[in-house]
Amino acid sequence: MNNKKTDKTGSCLCGAVAFIISGDMRNIVACHCGQCQRTHGHYAAYSRCQLEDLSFTEDRGLKWYRSSENAERGFCGECGASIFWRPTGGDAISVAAGSLDSTGDLKLVGHIFCDDIPDYYSLEDDLPKYPGSSKGGFD
Ligand SMILES: [Zn+2]
Repeated sequence: MNNKKTDKTGSCLCGAVAFIISGDMRNIVACHCGQCQRTHGHYAAYSRCQLEDLSFTEDRGLKWYRSSENAERGFCGECGASIFWRPTGGDAISVAAGSLDSTGDLKLVGHIFCDDIPDYYSLEDDLPKYPGSSKGGFD
């Protein structure tokens, strides 16, 4: 299993969004899609948890942006941090690895949407690489 038992905390840059995750989190997957490039400024690194395991200790800054018909992205309206990706109607939510206070035992396990990688970098590791979605390949 990729899942690691966790009780993790995280926040945006300014603290207007802060949260606790009590439950298993998936290992970290790097997403190279064009949308992640735009909102993170580079590729994104996301863990994931069940929606029901996520609770907010501060959400005054939390905003949602509908980034496609199928998903929305959560960010801080005060500092601009990109934190969440959530498929519409799903029971899980992706959480930016960099927003966690500690990633603990979580490891980077692979890459998705590698067909969208821009010319300025390339991947040098031996981790699995999917041209698009992993379609659950890291679950
Ligand atoms: Zn903030």
